[in-house]
Amino acid sequence: MLDTALRNADIVTAADRIRAQIGIRDGRIVTIAEDVGPAREEIDATGLLALPGGIDAHVHLAQHQGGGVVMADGFESGTRSAAAGGTTTVMPFALQQKGQSLREAVSAYHAEAEGKCHVDTSFHLIITDPTPQVLGQELPALVKAGYTSFKVFMTYDDMVLNDAQLLDVFDVARREKALVMVHAEGYDAIRYMARRLEEAGKTAPYYHAASRPQSTEREATHRAISHAELTDVPICIVHVSGREPMEQIQWAKRRGMNVWAETCPQYIALTAEDLKGLNMDFEGAKYVCSPPPRDADSQRAIWEGLRDGTFDIFSSDHCPFRFDDPEGKDVPGARTSFRWVPNGIPIPGIETRLPLLFSEGVSKGRISLERFVALTATNPAKLFGLYPRKGTIAVGADADITLWDLSREVTLSQQILHHDCDYTPYEGLAVKGWPVRTLLRGQTICLDGTITGSPGTGRYLDRATSQAFPAA
Ligand SMILES: [Zn+2]
Repeated sequence: MLDTALRNADIVTAADRIRAQIGIRDGRIVTIAEDVGPAREEIDATGLLALPGGIDAHVHLAQHQGGGVVMADGFESGTRSAAAGGTTTVMPFALQQKGQSLREAVSAYHAEAEGKCHVDTSFHLIITDPTPQVLGQELPALVKAGYTSFKVFMTYDDMVLNDAQLLDVFDVARREKALVMVHAEGYDAIRYMARRLEEAGKTAPYYHAASRPQSTEREATHRAISHAELTDVPICIVHVSGREPMEQIQWAKRRGMNVWAETCPQYIALTAEDLKGLNMDFEGAKYVCSPPPRDADSQRAIWEGLRDGTFDIFSSDHCPFRFDDPEGKDVPGARTSFRWVPNGIPIPGIETRLPLLFSEGVSKGRISLERFVALTATNPAKLFGLYPRKGTIAVGADADITLWDLSREVTLSQQILHHDCDYTPYEGLAVKGWPVRTLLRGQTICLDGTITGSPGTGRYLDRATSQAFPAA
């Protein structure tokens, strides 16, 4: 006897669309057939699409920031919000503070997550202090233990790695077969621009975007690609914002290089104009993220890239800071200069990621359903060593399934979201197509906007080597 039978759904994977029934036992898909037979729980999915649960490969939760800034979402609220948005696996970052042991950072992050997660999780690492101890011992041991990817930064005072450090880190990544995610923005160029703007009295949040023009991202993207070529290692350029850095990635891909790329909702739904707020006021701080949203031309380029394979994955880069809060966007100093607005990383979006891409992409005919699944579930699973357990609907895979109502129209608003942030940058945006039921390993964890799972349902996932590394 099956635990659950999902009947009458149109099943969509990255490759196929079929009408069939799905049989679930012990959290896994055990059969897909015309008739899977009797089951204890019946789910009638007539009129709905069954897609693999979303995988959000880039989220920041409960990450400790400097300067008294606190992230609005910890593991409980962040994963609750993910479940409501149709996502069943999230990948946050265990951040190594400078001077801290990487192993300690990882244990502390596990302790933080313990018993709180509504969806499955797996951690990337963030390397900020590549000491001989970290590169020689801790990192290799952690990669072997299933932390098969990590992020490095080419900007930010407390995170930036110089070129020599990047090369050392890439070298370890090649040896250990870990996938490096690169935040590509040029540190010195941004500092120069920020200083010039401040000296001219241009301090409103809008100038955050002006201080990080596309040239700074383009240059860093090219530099990261060149370092990857030299060290012969695959890399993934994350949160690519516009046409110019995209051209570097296309150049690398055309040359057959092992370069992967990610983009995010803010680069299709926002532009730098949003940072102007109502009248160049602090309202613009809501849209401060790095790299900043660009312009209409870049939005068009991003859509082309989502279609043509320039981009492999679509993640939220969820980074929740409260707006009206001295521990959030409105920290002391933030109203005096854009430089102090917390942005390390972007804006809240873990719950709106899938509905936004579905509505603007699939419902408006810009990308196919299969492409949607590839970008939001299958490719992230392959790139980060979770495939085929996650990222597809197939016999043997975990029964992580999201049911979508193609015709449901919803207006995004703070009121309907499940995060602990106090705003959404997409307030008032109308979307068509909505995740109405989320199953994690066969269990319904969200139904019509109501959370039905509990904290602690989510499990931690050890990961295999990225498929970016050719199989031996
Ligand atoms: Zn980043």
